[in-house]
Amino acid sequence: MLRLSESDLVRSAVVRAPVSRAVVARYVAGETVAEAVDTTAELRTTNRLATIDYLGEDTAHLRGAEATRDTYLALLEALGEADLAAYGAAEVSVKLSAVGQALPRDGDAICLDHVRAICEAAARVGTTVTLDMEDHTTTDRTLETLRALRADFPWVGAVLQSYLRRTEADCRDLATEGSRVRLCKGAYKEPASVAFQDRDDVDLSYVRCLKVLMAGDGYPMVASHDPRLVEIAQALAGHHGRAPDTYEFQMLLGIRPSEQTRIADRGHQLRVYVPFGEDWYGYLVRRMAERPANVEFFLRSLVTKG
Ligand SMILES: Cc1cc2nc3c(=O)[nH]c(=O)nc-3n(C[C@H](O)[C@H](O)[C@H](O)COP(=O)(O)OP(=O)(O)OC[C@H]3O[C@@H](n4cnc5c(N)ncnc54)[C@H](O)[C@@H]3O)c2cc1C
Repeated sequence: MLRLSESDLVRSAVVRAPVSRAVVARYVAGETVAEAVDTTAELRTTNRLATIDYLGEDTAHLRGAEATRDTYLALLEALGEADLAAYGAAEVSVKLSAVGQALPRDGDAICLDHVRAICEAAARVGTTVTLDMEDHTTTDRTLETLRALRADFPWVGAVLQSYLRRTEADCRDLATEGSRVRLCKGAYKEPASVAFQDRDDVDLSYVRCLKVLMAGDGYPMVASHDPRLVEIAQALAGHHGRAPDTYEFQMLLGIRPSEQTRIADRGHQLRVYVPFGEDWYGYLVRRMAERPANVEFFLRSLVTKG
């Protein structure tokens, strides 16, 4: 699925298919800042927190990276005006390749400048920023940018992926006082040299990483829809005597929504990852690849309506 998605032919067929819009609507908040803010306000009515992602990645031109930065600035201002940002109720998630990391020249420096501006805007409205993690070729650079940002903004969050063999060690490095770490399984196609290929091995790694994070002094963000892992995280939090405000659960918009509200109703913090923007293709494909039933649903709709 992930390989097929790289074909330009497949991309344009999927983007143009009328049914795509309906499928996209389940996973994506809309295309504009206003729609992202509306979705966030709606989530707040059921006590769910939000982290908002402006879709786009691998920006190849400075203009594009600047535009992405500016959209985040507008988003943060709008969240502040709607009174949704205070105390981190709604924060933002940023892919560094969307704000300059992937530029051929001075990518890291430009990216750091852009994400620094986003952090300043977040601080102004009383919220936080989390750096999404992309494929393994960017892990070291992303963690380097995290270190640079945390000197001024200690609340900047990191994402670690349990499918990577290195991640347990990274968890140890990052399980420090105040350190916000989102643990997920990982969504990219990675080679066996760096990543576990077997789903059970990825899950076992997730549990080992969770143990490190829950035992440490940081703020674990448990990003998974896997009921077994959610249960293990709750047990570990209890075992370590963690108060409910010292960790949180995170799930994606449109995935297991009733479980999301159930977790929030039981007094846990539950944050929904809310993607928005026109560039939804790569994001949607990763969600499809995670679950064959989604692909079937999508293809069946194409045949019926197309
Ligand atoms: C808040 C958040 C942020 C993330 N950030 C990143 C990131 O920065 N970098 C990165 O590489 N990945 C990121 N991911 C994606 C993550 O790595 C996984 O690809 C994704 O969460 C699926 O893994 P899972 O833990 O839910 O387990 P899975 O084993 O994939 O799923 C467990 C169960 O959840 C349900 N489920 C899972 N996916 C779907 C779906 N698409 N549709 C319907 N049901 C589904 C099913 O019931 C499934 O059996 C993030 C995920 C979340 C929740």
